[in-house]
Amino acid sequence: MSATARVEERLFQNRYLVDSGRPHIKIKPHDVPSRALLAMTRLCPVGCYSLSDSGQVEISADGCVECGTCRIVTQSTGELEWNYPRGGFGVLYKFG
Ligand code: SF4
Repeated sequence: MSATARVEERLFQNRYLVDSGRPHIKIKPHDVPSRALLAMTRLCPVGCYSLSDSGQVEISADGCVECGTCRIVTQSTGELEWNYPRGGFGVLYKFG
């Protein structure tokens, strides 16, 4: 890979071991997301967050790189239950 590879190309090198049925990040049920939670649909570097047709924020944490951005951004709202994946699961960095 060249030194100027795009972020998407670098992320593609990672591998993930999904812990089926045990997501390490959960969003508490909500009718209207806070601004902080809504912002995660744009801030998550790998696009784990999305907005449903009915206006709730959803997460698919399978490709999470464990950067902690969502944990920090929503810290004051308490909308997330955030844990690291169990040992052996989650992101497997190929290049460090
Ligand atoms: S920890 Fe980082 S990569 Fe994982 S869901 Fe949160 S913002 Fe996205």
